[in-house]
Amino acid sequence: MDSHDPPAVTSSQQPWHALPPDAVLKAIQGTPDGLSEHEARARLERHGPNVLQRVSGESPLKLLWRQVNNPLIWVLLASAGLAIALGKVTDGIIVLAVVVLNTLIGFVQEFRAGKAIEALTQMVPENATVLREGQKVTVPAAQLVPGDVVVLASGDKVPADVRLLAERNLQVEEAALTGESVPSEKKVAPVDTSAGIGDRTSMAFGGTHVTYGTGTAVVVATGSATELGRISQLLREAVDLQTPLTKALASIGRYLTIAILIISAVLLGVGLLRGYAVAESLLAALTLAVAAIPEGLPAIVTIALAIGVQYMAARRAIIRKLPAVETLGSTTVICSDKTGTLTRNEMTVQALWTPAGFYSLSGVGYSPQGEVRRGDQPLASLPEDARELLVAGALCNDASVRSKDGTWELTGDPTEGALLVAAEKAGLRVEELRSRRSRVDAIPFESENQFMATLNEDERGARSLFLKGAPEVVLRRCDSHEGLDARTVLAEVERLASRGMRVLAVASKSVPGSQQGVRLEDAAGGFRLLGLQGMIDPPREEAIQAVKACHAAGITVKMITGDHAKTAEAIGAQLGILEGGRAVTGAELAEMDEARLRGSATSSNVFARVAPEHKLRLVRALQTEGHVVAMTGDGVNDAPALKQANIGVAMGITGTAVSKEAADIILTDDNFASIAAAVEEGRRVYDNLIKSLAFVLPTNLGLALILIVGVAFFPILHINGEREALLAMLPSQLLWINLVATVALALPLAFEAREPDVMKRPPRRPDSPVLSRFVLMRTVLVAVLMCAGATGLFLWEYNTEVARLGHDMALREAQTMAVTTVIMFQMFYLLNCRSLRDSFFRIGVFSNPFVYLGIGLLALLQLGFIFLPFMQRVFGTAPLTLEALGLCALVGAVVLPVISVEKWWRSRRAQRSRRERGAGRQLPSRVPRRATVG
Ligand code: ATP
Repeated sequence: MDSHDPPAVTSSQQPWHALPPDAVLKAIQGTPDGLSEHEARARLERHGPNVLQRVSGESPLKLLWRQVNNPLIWVLLASAGLAIALGKVTDGIIVLAVVVLNTLIGFVQEFRAGKAIEALTQMVPENATVLREGQKVTVPAAQLVPGDVVVLASGDKVPADVRLLAERNLQVEEAALTGESVPSEKKVAPVDTSAGIGDRTSMAFGGTHVTYGTGTAVVVATGSATELGRISQLLREAVDLQTPLTKALASIGRYLTIAILIISAVLLGVGLLRGYAVAESLLAALTLAVAAIPEGLPAIVTIALAIGVQYMAARRAIIRKLPAVETLGSTTVICSDKTGTLTRNEMTVQALWTPAGFYSLSGVGYSPQGEVRRGDQPLASLPEDARELLVAGALCNDASVRSKDGTWELTGDPTEGALLVAAEKAGLRVEELRSRRSRVDAIPFESENQFMATLNEDERGARSLFLKGAPEVVLRRCDSHEGLDARTVLAEVERLASRGMRVLAVASKSVPGSQQGVRLEDAAGGFRLLGLQGMIDPPREEAIQAVKACHAAGITVKMITGDHAKTAEAIGAQLGILEGGRAVTGAELAEMDEARLRGSATSSNVFARVAPEHKLRLVRALQTEGHVVAMTGDGVNDAPALKQANIGVAMGITGTAVSKEAADIILTDDNFASIAAAVEEGRRVYDNLIKSLAFVLPTNLGLALILIVGVAFFPILHINGEREALLAMLPSQLLWINLVATVALALPLAFEAREPDVMKRPPRRPDSPVLSRFVLMRTVLVAVLMCAGATGLFLWEYNTEVARLGHDMALREAQTMAVTTVIMFQMFYLLNCRSLRDSFFRIGVFSNPFVYLGIGLLALLQLGFIFLPFMQRVFGTAPLTLEALGLCALVGAVVLPVISVEKWWRSRRAQRSRRERGAGRQLPSRVPRRATVG
């Protein structure tokens, strides 16, 4: 092929749709067999990669505005203004610092989270099948160039603008371009030059989806030269960072703000009544507002979720929609495909059955050293019946295999690859066979048909139709079983299937030499059964372990497969999910009314010969029963079920583009074990959020209590003839704690390691409130303890020292001690929060270095607060003796034993209630109807 520059035209500049295919090929300097590798590379240099330039993410300014546009922040800003107006410039500036710091952290984190999720989505590669010098190869869609011939199949995303060269029942859904969601039929015939995009039936456009059929087409425009490229240059692919949890927290935040404002107003009144100066009262009220508002919380939540997304990606589950991170933690049922997800998708034909005999193919996996045996006798030459069966299996086949270094390299569907390997093992040369009996036409395999048919012509010009597919489907089309009745054959199918084999039946019939194509009607009957091929596809070892882990975590695993019921049962038993039950078939599901379906969906774990529409019904039924359902899918027809499921899981390697776009998660290794890993991470993320809440909220309430107790109950002194309120902390000091502690200490909790029992407890109830009883009780307990410790130590220190040091110095020292006590208290409490239920020794003292980083940082800041003269001036602090520091640490440490007792009491109560429940009615551990929350 010469490498002249083909005309650099876009699809809209040339009326490709109005030209016949050969004219298009000529104009674009291509051939029906595609380009050469060399030519493709040269064109790629000239045209650039086939990617759309997208302006990604939310604009930074909008993101920043979202941080500021929050009632909590408004209250804070108003407080800062008020403080400055009252002449309390220091306090005003600290409040402003709180606002700026929080906004910045929130902004940076959300920005990074958005970018990270975007980058992850791109980790799932988009590929295209192209012809390069007649050979089918898979290349990244980004490498397509004008002139490439692409092969389209149902489920594919059309990778660029293409002009059809051939098609079979091709239907394309063009909603991305035209907004029309009803698929349009595509034909090779040229259309009128003036046809609009939606009427150009001879074209398929980049970004649209093949919903049915197959086709080949030549690429006419790539990247931004495509129709989609032209309209989507300004498309923003925004990553939505909102989740149910962030929304719930935002609404809690609004109520909390109102409540805090009311309490502040009451405090203002109390202060005035007790004779505080107006400015003093106002300052106390606004300090209360600032101290009590958990302004750092939204940022912490986003960070925890973003970290979860990254951990999940490392464990091969790419999150496409952020809420999935949370939902994973409450998943109660996982419905999984069998082939490739629970099994290895390494098909090996082990048995051949023909009406004349039974043969076994020895040799494991893809190694070529197999031999054909009848019974246990090795066969020197292949009997004619077995030969015919293998030949038909190899011809009625779209895969190709190459023997390389003793293993087989496969392109295409593993089921078909296995048939080819079986033929090669038996000494048949597939390539040679295929050239001697060339293919005239084919009906490709579609899951909903469960068969494939080809029309082949031999060297003498005789034509035959070959049919292979699910035995029931093939047998229905056969009128001759070589003297055997269909029931005998089906019994044979069951015998193979119950050994866990996928069984394909193969049949053929002669047709007139004049027959040009094969239509569905042609494949409807009149075939002669050639035999059965049984192939094994063993379960993945890690899937067996993951199923066990799910069971321990109170999650039911259900297998949904298109395979035969007996095959499904055998594999289900090996995986440990059948549990003595039996497989329910799609046909049975179709007969059931909604009530029976709900019963069956809950009680059965293996579903066989299931069509995509059954999947949708199953998800709905399970959801009606209160389950949170994760569902896997790979085909184009799985999209509705994936969307309906609480978590749609698509396969990164074998999944169709359509299923990936409908999913919430994409598995980069197609492995069931990665779903279990994602669930584990989801639970960890949620735990860490609760830990952050359990840490942050008591701090806010504790600080508020310290202030309220002071204003409402502490004596008002008369010093040098002036009234002066005795307060355990100055407003600026309170704000200091608020500023440094939340940031330095709450963030590290988002990195906390998994709790040891994370996969041993039942799933979280999705409707359980964020502020559970546990969080509320913990908040009150810790806040009261903190307030009592700090104010108690303050009063004790002031009273002991006032005589020796005088009012001013004693007050400064006592206040510095109160602040230090709270900081110490928080450091110890942080260690406690590392685990919700256990002592932190069990999750590993050093398993989260960020915690110690936070504590170290805070310790340094606090030392500065106490000892730096500049800080002493700003915050009114005084240097403390080692003894005083020790005392603060001791009082702060009280929280450790108290919370340990609380955890012990909680776990005892949980155990007791479990025992009582166990004695009452035996709940099957796998079906967690109602789960507890920590
Ligand atoms: P799983 O859920 O286990 O991944 P599936 O639902 O994807 O399986 P399909 O691939 O749709 O199952 O296969 C359904 C049935 O169709 C198989 O049991 C087999 O009998 C038949 N079959 C599968 N692949 C082919 C093929 N390439 N050609 C002909 N028939 C096939």
